[in-house]
Amino acid sequence: MPVPLPALEDHPLKDAALQRATVLYTDLDGTLLARGARLLADAAGEPWLGTAEAIVALNRAGLTCVVCSGRNRWQLMEVSRLLGWDSYIAEVGCVIVPGRGEEPIYHTGSWGPDALHGDETPYEAITRVGALDVLARVFAGTIEEHAPWHLNREATHVLRGNVPLAQAQAALDTLSLPVRIVDNGIIHPPVHGLIDVDEVHAYHLIPDGVHKSDAIERDLTRRGLGRMDALAVGDSATDVEMADAVGLGVLVANALDDERVVESAAGRTNVAVTHGKRGEGWTELATAWLTARKSVQEPS
Ligand SMILES: [Mg+2]
Repeated sequence: MPVPLPALEDHPLKDAALQRATVLYTDLDGTLLARGARLLADAAGEPWLGTAEAIVALNRAGLTCVVCSGRNRWQLMEVSRLLGWDSYIAEVGCVIVPGRGEEPIYHTGSWGPDALHGDETPYEAITRVGALDVLARVFAGTIEEHAPWHLNREATHVLRGNVPLAQAQAALDTLSLPVRIVDNGIIHPPVHGLIDVDEVHAYHLIPDGVHKSDAIERDLTRRGLGRMDALAVGDSATDVEMADAVGLGVLVANALDDERVVESAAGRTNVAVTHGKRGEGWTELATAWLTARKSVQEPS
C-alpha cells in the first residue's frame, strides 16, 4: 500500500519542529512498545536494545518525555519510573499526573457538576448509566471488556472487539450521560471471548469532550510552554488527535495498518509517519529529534 502521509524525513515542518521541541508526548502500546508491551524488542518482537538506547540518549540530553496512553495511572506510574520520566497522562487524557508523588488532575470534558452521584468516579458513572450493557446488547459477541486491563480505572472503560464506531456511538447517545467511544488501535490479545473477530481493536468509553490533545494543552500550559515546544508520537486514531496540540504529530508506520487512522490523519498538515514500526519508528523519531536539537546547540 503506498504511504499516503509524508515520511518524517521529508516533512516540511520537520526541521523547525524538531529543533524547537523540548517535550515529547508518547503513546505506549504499539508505539514505544512492541507486541506484548515489550520495550526490549524490535518491531517484529525480537530482542533489541535500540529503543532503550534512544530513551537513554533523550534522558541524557535533558529532553522531556511524557507518556500519554489509555492505560490507568498505576500502570503509567510504574512505566514512567522505570524509564526515568516524571509526569504522565492516563486514561486517554482524563487523568493528568504532573509529577512524581503529585495528586492527579481529572478532566471530564463536557460533563456538568451533577454528572457524578455522591462519591462515584467517572468510571462508575459510565457503568451506572448502562454504557456496557447497551454495547453488549447491540453488538453481542463482538465487544467485551479488555481483561485484565479493565481493572483499577477511574475515568474510562477499556474494551476490545470490532464494532462500527458510528453505530456504537449512536447506541451510547441514548444514555443519560454523554459518553464517547474512541478507537485506540489494533491490538493482539493472547486470549479473548470474541466471536468471529479477526482484527481486534481497543476501545475506550470516555466522558464526552475529553481528548488527548486537551490534556496535552493543559500540560504544556502548566509548564509555561506552547504548542510549538512539543511533539507527539502514536499509532492510533486517538493519537492522531494529539497532533492538534503540538508542532508535529508523528505516527509509527504500523499506524497505517489501520485505515481509520489514515483517514483521521489525512486532514491534518502536521502529521508525519516513520519508516519503522513500533519501537523502531519511535527510535527513528528520537534519533532525528536529537540530531535536530544538536544542530541548534552546536551549529557547524
Ligand atoms: Mg497505541
